Amino acid sequence: MNTNFLHSDFIIIGAGAAGLFAAGKLTQLGKTVRIIDSEDKPGKKILISGGGYCNFTNIHTSPSHFISDNPHFCTSALSRYSPYHFIELVEKYHIPYHEKVLGQMFCDTSARDIVRMLMFEINQNKLILELQCKVESVTKSDSFFVHTNKGIYSSQSVIVSSGGLSIPKMGASCIGYDIALSFGHTIIPTKPGLVPLIVQAETFPYSDLAGLSIQSEIQTEESPIFKEGLLFTHKGLSGPAILQASSYINHTNSVTINTLIDPSNYAKIAQGDFGKMDWKNALSTIFPKRFAYAWAQYHKQSETYSHYSEKTRKIFADQLMNWQPIIAGNEGYSKAEVTVGGVNTKELSSKTMMSNKIPNLYFIGEVVDVTGHLGGYNFQWAWASAHAISISSN
Ligand SMILES: Cc1cc2nc3c(=O)[nH]c(=O)nc-3n(C[C@H](O)[C@H](O)[C@H](O)COP(=O)(O)OP(=O)(O)OC[C@H]3O[C@@H](n4cnc5c(N)ncnc54)[C@H](O)[C@@H]3O)c2cc1C
Repeated sequence: MNTNFLHSDFIIIGAGAAGLFAAGKLTQLGKTVRIIDSEDKPGKKILISGGGYCNFTNIHTSPSHFISDNPHFCTSALSRYSPYHFIELVEKYHIPYHEKVLGQMFCDTSARDIVRMLMFEINQNKLILELQCKVESVTKSDSFFVHTNKGIYSSQSVIVSSGGLSIPKMGASCIGYDIALSFGHTIIPTKPGLVPLIVQAETFPYSDLAGLSIQSEIQTEESPIFKEGLLFTHKGLSGPAILQASSYINHTNSVTINTLIDPSNYAKIAQGDFGKMDWKNALSTIFPKRFAYAWAQYHKQSETYSHYSEKTRKIFADQLMNWQPIIAGNEGYSKAEVTVGGVNTKELSSKTMMSNKIPNLYFIGEVVDVTGHLGGYNFQWAWASAHAISISSN
């Protein structure tokens, strides 16, 4: 192995959202930074985010939009770097953007604008960007030593911003957790989040509806209610509402789906004026026809509307409001947008993101046990947690 002891103030492991943002802040403070990434270009996940348009923040960000074993941990960093700080930066670079829905801010043109901006923010005189370089471990004596497939690099401080386990083909690895464990940290168990769900095949007659979307309200035992779109897939369910709920689901809890979100539709079903119309056609006045037909067929509701008493129609309406599909699993890290769990925040400073066990070792971004809801919150956490380090290094 080539042993190359070039020394820098900081080594940042991972040139993703959090790592690049931290590099910008630190080089502007005059610190020398080496960023190491196993991929061939920086910010790969940013490039595919938001369907290529990067949902870079959410103006409604608050700690309630994050899942963590230690829910208040994120408050400090989020309060010191708000969505409006990032929007100000986006405006400084004249990047066109818009609010899509629910406070979600997207680029008008391309996610590439965000990566370019992050690279411009880095003082190139203070930076060495080491690509296609895989970190294998970190050790410490007077300095830190970062062991890679290209050699060993040393620094005064190490920032672990190596992300979670989602999308392994884009460089995701468990190195951040391994480094944390090697320095005596604990890991809150990880699982795929913001991920499509697989429904037990025998109880899922809707695979032919793949690609169809309906509005819904979804809740799990521990989650808030998510009122967003639900998308049918060949294996089960996806769409924003399901992705949100998926981050809360474990092996034991169930998910309840209300497909009848407009209260006036309950009355329409129970007391409507559909006479001899087929029940499935009556349902089609509320739902997309394909869903209405499939639902009626699965529930053996084959008669005309007036054939059913009002009491029975109310039972049907209740079924549509309380659908509890049997969840067999999820589509795994290859389809998950994030990883829930990570480095235990009880062992990190919420102000500086530094390890409470090892001075000058920091963890930021998705590797930490802070996971955002869908809608730009995960990037806001990446920016805010990276910003926290720069304050402490000033
Ligand atoms: C398809 C998709 C779409 C998304 N869209 C959005 C969105 O629109 N809005 C939003 O807020 N969030 C979105 N997310 C989530 C968001 O991308 C992540 O939460 C965010 O990128 C995390 O930033 P990070 O810097 O912590 O990690 P990452 O951005 O994942 O960066 C980690 C880096 O570490 C590198 N690395 C890993 N292991 C090693 C190693 N051993 N050696 C060297 N380098 C290593 C990786 O190559 C990677 O570049 C999306 C995620 C996916 C998968």
